[in-house]
Amino acid sequence: MGIASFGMADCQSGDIEQMIWTDEQIELLKTMWGQGKPASEIALMLGCNITRNAVIGKSHRLGLTGRASPIKKRMNKGPAIMALSERMCKWPFGDPKKPDFYFCGRPVEISVSYCAEHRALAYQAPKKLIVQSR
Ligand SMILES: [Zn+2]
Repeated sequence: MGIASFGMADCQSGDIEQMIWTDEQIELLKTMWGQGKPASEIALMLGCNITRNAVIGKSHRLGLTGRASPIKKRMNKGPAIMALSERMCKWPFGDPKKPDFYFCGRPVEISVSYCAEHRALAYQAPKKLIVQSR
């Protein structure tokens, strides 16, 4: 079994400051913290009215500092700008000023900017505009 979520039934106490952490909850905290999950997400998984601050406080007490930076996360979506090679579709998604901006990244022939799908989009859009304006 993987990580299980703790329901309200497992709560030891409603008082966050006095809360007793079970071994399971501490294990889950360590695992998720190690995976670089945000404290708010860990708090949700732990349930029992645990706040983000309680998770951070507990992890510091356990010595769980120095975890991987969240930059890793955005690699899941598509290649970051620096990782883009000549043989990848350069069709942009999102706002280049924002951290979740990424490129399509599908493999393409050298000297071709976009994959077939995005090439069609790139070359069809202006034609449609011209037809509509007449
Ligand atoms: Zn593409």
